Amino acid sequence: MFDSPESVETILRQALEANGQRFTEQRAAVFRYLHATESHPTADEVFLHVRENVPGISLATVYKSLETLVGCGLAVKLTYGDGSARYDGRTDDHHHLRCVACGVVTDLPGRADDREVARLAASAQEFMVTGYRLELTGYCTSCAQGQTRAHPA
Ligand SMILES: [Zn+2]
Ligand SMILES: [Zn+2]
Repeated sequence: MFDSPESVETILRQALEANGQRFTEQRAAVFRYLHATESHPTADEVFLHVRENVPGISLATVYKSLETLVGCGLAVKLTYGDGSARYDGRTDDHHHLRCVACGVVTDLPGRADDREVARLAASAQEFMVTGYRLELTGYCTSCAQGQTRAHPA
């Protein structure tokens, strides 16, 4: 999150090259934005921000750039049951809080107990566990206020 602009570009160039992809200014702009934000934006949100710096960019290009970054291991795509998707520039193991009212996703500072996760994985039958996703759902601060108003105790 605190890398210099030069190192962010170096990371991108190397990862694209390693995956046989070309470096483009559009991909760089999408990567820079995703790398700098902690908001887990949707493709539309990335588009709205990136087009301020890259005026001619299309939503389709942003979407394809995001998918390329995911394919190169530079971003994580978070998909949800309603078909929506958000993108995370943070690729280390971490967990999320998701507001079920407005859909906002934030990083959870705490970590799960590795031994407990290993115990759960060991209980899986005929399944090769390669990872896991932990998401706590509920209401963000602003939506929680709306909830209290809507349902007075
Ligand atoms: Zn909310
Ligand atoms: Zn995250």
